[in-house]
Amino acid sequence: MEATTNGHRVLTHMIQKLKKNNSYKSKNYEMTTVASSSISTGYLDGKQVKRIIFYLRGVGCSWCKLDYGGCSMCGHFHGTTKGDLMPEGAHLQQFKTEYAKYDFKEFPIVCIYNAGSLLSREEIRDYDFAEILKIIDADANIKHIIVESRPEFVTESAMQVMSSLLKSTSVEIGIGLESGSEIVRDLCINKGFSFGDYVKAAEVVKKYNFKLLTYITVKPLFLTINESIADVVESLKKLKHLADVVSLEPTSIQKWTLVDYFYSQGIYRIPSGWILKDIIEEIKDDLNDFGFELRIGGFEFYPTPQLYVSNCYRCNGDLYNAINVFNVNKSIDEMLRLKCECVKTYEMEKYNEQSLNTNSSLHARVSEIIADKLLSSYLK
Ligand code: SF4
Ligand SMILES: [Zn+2]
Repeated sequence: MEATTNGHRVLTHMIQKLKKNNSYKSKNYEMTTVASSSISTGYLDGKQVKRIIFYLRGVGCSWCKLDYGGCSMCGHFHGTTKGDLMPEGAHLQQFKTEYAKYDFKEFPIVCIYNAGSLLSREEIRDYDFAEILKIIDADANIKHIIVESRPEFVTESAMQVMSSLLKSTSVEIGIGLESGSEIVRDLCINKGFSFGDYVKAAEVVKKYNFKLLTYITVKPLFLTINESIADVVESLKKLKHLADVVSLEPTSIQKWTLVDYFYSQGIYRIPSGWILKDIIEEIKDDLNDFGFELRIGGFEFYPTPQLYVSNCYRCNGDLYNAINVFNVNKSIDEMLRLKCECVKTYEMEKYNEQSLNTNSSLHARVSEIIADKLLSSYLK
């Protein structure tokens, strides 16, 4: 499967211009140093553990590098060399230097991200990829590795390499499906692959007995709150017995993205934490039938988002605690018990959105939003 872009859409031209914005030129990055690494919470065999995330300095996501490619909410590209190649050994050196800083006795999970697809040989060379896997497998403390990839790079040959080099480390492969709906994935995200492409990749992952992690976006661009809740619920139903783990990812704001642009214009509103409570309410009776583990994520990105899911200063602590409790022991009680005055603002927003978006198709709505924006100063 080869990803093809859509140059006939205003939105993809906007993405293209945001990527090329000269006021935010790629820095002269040091190619042998990781972009960042961080310690975070992970889940292994039903227990909460610590994990280390290595954000390798990437050369740029293959999809984002294509003309008109790149996802509406993703600003990872701006933390990469934006297509400048790296010499052989650069990624390996990045990993080795950062790896030496940690004592892995406390960290059984390692995530290796590269702001794109770690399984794309255009983004990381064969040699570097294989050597990194060998280091990980040789470390008895590391039990589990998580990498991310678009489906087109989840190939038999990539799986064979991982399977042959990782003898004592289990593998989880994360794919950003974002939505089970073709139109939402295409128009609201500009994802550039179909559900069928995802299913093919899922089958390859399963064939090698690796775990399939799947990301679903909460509140993508152009969907109302109620539409997003329905989209998440439908997406989860489609993933029944297909994914092993599903992570709900509330949209965050990363600089120089389409989402950031519409946010800056007051057109897009970042999801409030109450949407997570609504989603949990909707699916609480199905949770045990999904056949996958459900998590709530969306906090770990590089470059770090400027804004992410929140409620108000009074109840944010309770919200993040409820997310953590859900992720650790799958208890929904804390989430369902959330209470605060700020829920009224959320309910008002839901109400207002519904009256604004009656009957129009998603395509018509997007065109109308762009037309309003273009004519706004002229018609004043
Ligand atoms: S979300 Fe993934 S596929 Fe989309 S542009 Fe970002 S790194 Fe690439
Ligand atoms: Zn509140």
